[in-house]
Amino acid sequence: MDSPTQAPTKSDSQLAQPVMSNNDNHNTPGSNHSLDPLRIAQKQFDEAAVYVDLPTSILAKLRVPERALMVNFPVMMDNGEFRMFTGYRVQHSTARGPAKGGIRYHPDVTLEEVSALAMWMSWKCAVVNIPYGGGKGGVICDPKSLSTRELEALSRRYATEIAPWIGPERDIPAPDVNTTPQIMAWIMDTYSMAVGHPTPAVITGKPIELGGSLGRTEATARGTQVCVRRAARKLGLNLNEATVVVQGYGNAGSISAELLHRDGATIVAVSDSRGGIYNPHGLDPVAVLRHKQETGSVVGYPGADVVTNEELLTLPCDILVPAALEKQLHAGNADQVKARIIAEAANGPTEPEADRIFHDRGTFVLPDILCNAGGVTVSYFEWVQNMQGFFWDEDEVNSQLERIMNRAFDAVMAIAERKNVHNRLAANILAINRVGQAVRLPGIYP
Ligand code: NAD
Repeated sequence: MDSPTQAPTKSDSQLAQPVMSNNDNHNTPGSNHSLDPLRIAQKQFDEAAVYVDLPTSILAKLRVPERALMVNFPVMMDNGEFRMFTGYRVQHSTARGPAKGGIRYHPDVTLEEVSALAMWMSWKCAVVNIPYGGGKGGVICDPKSLSTRELEALSRRYATEIAPWIGPERDIPAPDVNTTPQIMAWIMDTYSMAVGHPTPAVITGKPIELGGSLGRTEATARGTQVCVRRAARKLGLNLNEATVVVQGYGNAGSISAELLHRDGATIVAVSDSRGGIYNPHGLDPVAVLRHKQETGSVVGYPGADVVTNEELLTLPCDILVPAALEKQLHAGNADQVKARIIAEAANGPTEPEADRIFHDRGTFVLPDILCNAGGVTVSYFEWVQNMQGFFWDEDEVNSQLERIMNRAFDAVMAIAERKNVHNRLAANILAINRVGQAVRLPGIYP
């Protein structure tokens, strides 16, 4: 049963308390707000848990990660000195299948952040109904300050440190912020060396030549595009007349901009970590990407005004696509956001207070665990192809992706309408129910 008809019955105090730090000061760049991502994820969980017909013992289990690994390891830098790095791999749930989730390289990575991202991965895989649990990894580093050799050494050493935990049937990493197909290739090779045979299914987001899937690079944005199309149709918004703002111009953001532009929308502003650019008459997303590749940033693109990332979020537009980091939309800026649709290509861009404001104002939020689930869905296709040794053409990948995204959109909307709850709550209710049933049916071991 995905959704009981009963009114909420459980109080927060009946659920397990956080096991991680309660430090309120772990902020990601661009946020000046208080909750760390794990507490946000748990707040969202608590809100949804009261709608779900599951025993308190199972809810308590789902509220915290199953396993969290911290590794501290040395890497030889180009100057011959060793530098210590800290990394994590967290498995939130393996109830529905192997843990699945990306690896992030960023100076602000924390255990709390990785744990939140792992929890969101469990819900995301459940929303699209693929047979995975949730996991996430991260290394505290600034990859832009590392040479290619240093990056390879760091990636291979991190892979060695987490190798006993990962594997095609255990935990399957993938790219996330600042990690690339090349890094996936190094991690796959390191793991294969450790086990003594090629193991492409240990990681997804690989280069095509190493068993990567056609369509994986574009998958996250393609999933976002499907959701935006469906949301626009629901609101009677014609994409040919719609304006779009995109925060973050990496894999998820730049390809979302390009696909929505191809659908007829006008991309009026985009940004990256160095700032944003705005032209109300429209930007050419492909030319902006070329500029970023040549100069390192979208800033400086000719014929556009410079805006800050904070200003960008409140520019006039129909569709806002946060595609950077967590905690960008909060109580301090939510009521100035003008978009009718917020399409969360990023994970965790909206804080709970902002969610409430958007819900009250009728802003249509496409929650991250639905909106960016195209990436993990095609990662799943990649793993299936690796396990079978049989590869699909790109049309097959894209049509299966579209089918799954449409199905997930319908399932979330059905709960939102039936229970009169906002879309994130509906997606969480759907997901927690599915994961919870997978824990309940076999019972708690031993
Ligand atoms: P990426 O590294 O390719 O791009 C990240 C972009 O965000 C870069 O342009 C960077 O400059 C920009 N950025 C960083 N800090 C910023 C800030 N404070 N303000 C504005 N821009 C900033 O990463 P990605 O893979 O596109 O991931 C972006 C988001 O999408 C993350 O939240 C990630 O978890 C999520 N996501 C990615 C995938 C995927 O398949 N790549 C799948 C699901 C979710």
